[in-house]
Amino acid sequence: MGLLEGKVCLVTGASRGIGAATVRRFAQEGATVYANARTPNNMDSLCEEMSREYNTVVKAVYFDVRDESAAKKAVIQIRKETGRIDVLVNNAGIMKDALIGMISRELMQEIYDTNVFGVMNMIQLVSKVMMFQKSGSIINLSSIVGVEGNPGQLAYSATKGAVAAMTKTAAKELAGKGIRVNAIAPGMIDTDMFRSIGEEKMNEHLANIRMGRFGTPEDVADAIVFLASDLSGYVTGEILGVDGGAMV
Ligand code: NAD
Repeated sequence: MGLLEGKVCLVTGASRGIGAATVRRFAQEGATVYANARTPNNMDSLCEEMSREYNTVVKAVYFDVRDESAAKKAVIQIRKETGRIDVLVNNAGIMKDALIGMISRELMQEIYDTNVFGVMNMIQLVSKVMMFQKSGSIINLSSIVGVEGNPGQLAYSATKGAVAAMTKTAAKELAGKGIRVNAIAPGMIDTDMFRSIGEEKMNEHLANIRMGRFGTPEDVADAIVFLASDLSGYVTGEILGVDGGAMV
């Protein structure tokens, strides 16, 4: 028996990085997985391949998390097809760096639209389904910088701090409805997003990771599997660091 057998899971931002690794781990554990991406048809063949490989259902759902009505349509579609949603992973996110004094209103708006309002939208939409079934697990992607801060990331770190705060509030509000809400705070994980900071900065960060290596998307996906599964049935409102003992 897989850890997620019988569970219907929705993962946002699943075309690469942590989201893609999470979809694969969920499928390995026997879940029915809806993998969200923005570009139509982008994930169809990968989903078909994973469905065959893990003998389960992996399906793509295309929408932008900033688009509330498109997200709503997708949630309705999943509910129609499966009758439920057991797990939501709010993974979709963007990172844009700028020093204090150089942060434009457009940058602030763009990053908040995806990392904060997108997550709020998804929590509101999916928790309605979970409330009806009186169970569910929501996992949000915060960040070590949302707790510790990081030079050049005033806007990004603020959005990830907001995700941590949302996680705590949603956990308290939804616990009585059978819904658990937790967050992962990854450290430096080797994905396209992290590589965008450049090799020099990556090496600076490496020096501050006690385990002496960057994390992999699979390191994070394993922790997400734990929070999605019944192994964490009495865990809610937690911000779980997956950072190899990093200091920013
Ligand atoms: P990534 O850039 O490799 O992948 C992000 C995914 O989100 C992409 O597939 C992208 O297309 C998707 N996405 C972006 N905006 C979207 C939108 N509006 N609607 C739908 N999808 C959208 O990033 P990653 O490193 O895999 O990060 C995943 C999550 O983990 C993010 O929320 C990120 O902030 C967080 N995180 C990453 C790290 C790291 O070191 N990589 C550290 C801490 C937190």
